[in-house]
Amino acid sequence: MLVVMQQGATEEQIDAVIERMVEMGFNVHRSTGVIHTVLGGVGGKEEFDLEVFTVMGGVKEAHRIISPYKLASRAFHPAGTVVKVGGIEIGGPEVIVMAGPCSVESREQIERSAAIVASAGAKVIRGGAFKPRSSPYSFQGLGEEGLQMMRAAADRHGLLVVSEVMDQTQIPTLANHADILQVGARNMQNFNLLRELGRERKPILLKRGIAATIEELLLSAEYILSGGNYDVILCERGIRTFETYTRNTMDISAIPVVKTLSHLPMMADPSHGTGRRDKVAPMARAAVAAGADGLLIEVHPDPDRALSDGAQSLAPDQFAELMEQLRMIAPAVGRRI
Ligand code: PEP
Ligand code: MN
Repeated sequence: MLVVMQQGATEEQIDAVIERMVEMGFNVHRSTGVIHTVLGGVGGKEEFDLEVFTVMGGVKEAHRIISPYKLASRAFHPAGTVVKVGGIEIGGPEVIVMAGPCSVESREQIERSAAIVASAGAKVIRGGAFKPRSSPYSFQGLGEEGLQMMRAAADRHGLLVVSEVMDQTQIPTLANHADILQVGARNMQNFNLLRELGRERKPILLKRGIAATIEELLLSAEYILSGGNYDVILCERGIRTFETYTRNTMDISAIPVVKTLSHLPMMADPSHGTGRRDKVAPMARAAVAAGADGLLIEVHPDPDRALSDGAQSLAPDQFAELMEQLRMIAPAVGRRI
């Protein structure tokens, strides 16, 4: 359920409502907006009288939420969530670009990558240290050593770091070196991992599973939010369809759909979304035009020699050109890069 407090409701009134919700068995999550404070209650009993709340002091309205996800729903935070991390804001007017290689491969490769993406205007460097590869014989990543290399390169170039966490045991290591923890498509429904990340206080970039519906994506976000970690960023990265020309089918429509259903920032990954270098720029442009809050793009200093996902990685000049184009598109939809 949701209780929306009146503008100017006092802390005492808010506390009284929280107390009543707790008495009725709800776990209460508070969203303090500029105008209204919204109290989300989850886990309470199905049958209760909403009037109990509507007559309380300072209450504007109370609702039963019928969608299966509650804290992820737009109603919980109508103005939209802005995730603030290391001086950047994801979900605000600026479209945030996170770019870098699929995997951290060597000190030199990640240093060159950082220089390339920073000079083109990206704010965050990406790079996998623990890689979820379809084959156990493929390059599996450099682990913690890779994270250390990426952190050092990022710090030299004023970038933040996003990297994937594949299971609970890796959380402390990732939290130590990365600013944003990525949950990959294959782990979108690893509920034990999601629950643990709910206890973390670092932003989580949650990618859509290859066969996940938008509702399933939002329910996975709900696992993290219900643990008390409200800094969740969603990401469309293509879904598997009958089409085989592209690696996945980039679901651009998921961007405006999620922006309607949820208050969470929504990014797009046109690299995994298409699997083809020549299709990354058109889908990145489309994603920004469709309202994406950010982009996750694979860029490699020498894509043809990449140890993973070379075919979908942009070369440095291609990335710089794309950033120039995005800087023209963003203002057309009221954003900037
Ligand atoms: C990645 O970002 O490198 C990755 C493995 O992505 P996904 O989980 O979307 O396949
Ligand atoms: Mn990749």
